[in-house]
Amino acid sequence: MTPPIATRLHSLIQLLATPTRRSSNSQSFPLPANAIRHLHPLSFVPERTPDVSGRSTVGLGLPQSLDYQSSTCLYMAMARISKTDYMLWRECPKNAWLKIHKPDTYYASELTEFEKAIIDSGVEVEEVARGLFPGGVLIIGPAEEIRQATQKHLAARTPTLFQPIFERDGFLALLDVLDLNSETNGYSIREIKSSTKPKEEHLHDVAFQTLLVRRCGVKIERIFIVHLNPGYERSGDLDLASLFTTADMTAKVDEIAGTVAREIEEARTYLLNDVEPSGPCSCIYKGRSRHCSTFRYSNPHVPEYSVHDISRIGNSPKKLKEMIDAGVFALENIPTHINLSDIQQAQIRAYNSGETLIKKEAIAGELKKLKFPLYFIDYETYPSAIPLFEKYAPYHHVPFQYSLHIARSPDEEPLHMEFLHTALEDPSKLFVRSLQKNIGSIGSVVVWNKSFESGINEDLARRLPDVLGFIADLNDRIYDLKEIFSKQYYVHKNLWGKVSIKNVLPVLAPHLNYSSLDIQEGGAASITWCKIVSGRLSKEECSHLCEALKKYCGMDSYAMYAIWRALHDMLEA
Ligand code: SF4
Repeated sequence: MTPPIATRLHSLIQLLATPTRRSSNSQSFPLPANAIRHLHPLSFVPERTPDVSGRSTVGLGLPQSLDYQSSTCLYMAMARISKTDYMLWRECPKNAWLKIHKPDTYYASELTEFEKAIIDSGVEVEEVARGLFPGGVLIIGPAEEIRQATQKHLAARTPTLFQPIFERDGFLALLDVLDLNSETNGYSIREIKSSTKPKEEHLHDVAFQTLLVRRCGVKIERIFIVHLNPGYERSGDLDLASLFTTADMTAKVDEIAGTVAREIEEARTYLLNDVEPSGPCSCIYKGRSRHCSTFRYSNPHVPEYSVHDISRIGNSPKKLKEMIDAGVFALENIPTHINLSDIQQAQIRAYNSGETLIKKEAIAGELKKLKFPLYFIDYETYPSAIPLFEKYAPYHHVPFQYSLHIARSPDEEPLHMEFLHTALEDPSKLFVRSLQKNIGSIGSVVVWNKSFESGINEDLARRLPDVLGFIADLNDRIYDLKEIFSKQYYVHKNLWGKVSIKNVLPVLAPHLNYSSLDIQEGGAASITWCKIVSGRLSKEECSHLCEALKKYCGMDSYAMYAIWRALHDMLEA
């Protein structure tokens, strides 16, 4: 079972890729402009739009003010038991029930920019994949119009349909692609996924569609999952045939058809029952990261900071179960016989005693590894599902920005350097040249989460073999400041077992915070970059967003400096 957050995303991805969204002419390759402009649906303007074949469609579009959440609700109001409901029910019946009967609770927490970016990415992939089927007809508009248009197209034997809707016996499914084999008069269902391989849950997704469409009297011969090919590397224009891989799921779908037929009845009975499901929430036995957004609603007796927040407790389900079954939720009530790791015990001790646990010698040992000048650096990237530039594969990160604070000695204020690429072209070369200019051959390169920055560096070296030596040297000199906190050399009650820079900064440098910034996390930075390079904003808007990006990234690198400074001063005191 996938984590609940993925469930929520799955649900949203499915629903947001509905005909109420404006769609584009996805034949205008190569990318990027067309793909990028769909990264944020709020930028869509309602109008009639051409389908990929250039024919007119029934597009009504979204009101400009419609947001992710309300577009989902709007569609739900028209649906009965949709494919998405069924998929969500399979993962958590209770959560699916809440989504239908208590949408205010289900949608109480807003999607983060990161979650929105994932949704947009799924929509973008689907639109690009439609280019695999030239001449296909995209049906858009309100659900009832689409349903009628679907029937008209079936009667007219239209070879390929995008987003037809089928409804039967109170079940509803919207398909990505339905295409006709004119020789056999049978159809194929093709479900487009933004993943790089078919997943277990995709099988039930297409099985639901197949069952429903067959019940509507349509002869379905083959069922496919179309997904991104992780081995594809862009060279010149996008080669759609290589970018996507098609997996034949027909036999597997037939295997589970009986199970799915039983399940959808079960799901309907459960989901259409007006009585709220009672009983315990099974996630009570899982760590915090596995809880969905309705956990608090269903488990009001669990404190905000509970045993579920103990570091890596999700990896020790037996220990967690022992505490839960004994009715222990608060950290102060954990019995001494529970066998917790040193790291977990330190977290609990710090919280219960209110004392900050500091291993000064260990911290001093870590800081001694650093050599001046210290280069505190932070990268911002855009992980595009569709490769935007040469030598990029699906989900390779475009490194569009860095911020660098250079501390030449413990006594000087750091010097600030930065790089921000605002053109719609691969920034790799300019990014590396700028690094070469600003980072000398001696000194430690300090980051927060080494695997990210060093991975980006390796990608840069792969695209630009002439800088291999520079990059290898850079990676050799990288030091991960986060390690001091991951290793629990510094444990504060307010860290709650978390070691992200956003958690550590307010503890060690409370005069600094992200709350006043327009951009407050990396997902928002990615989306902002897309807006800037989309060519759809005014000069003033772009310059405002560039400033916001600079402030955000600048805060990340300065935060590292400030945390190092606080640790350094603490040792000196
Ligand atoms: S927290 Fe409760 S409602 Fe949410 S996924 Fe877990 S069991 Fe389902």
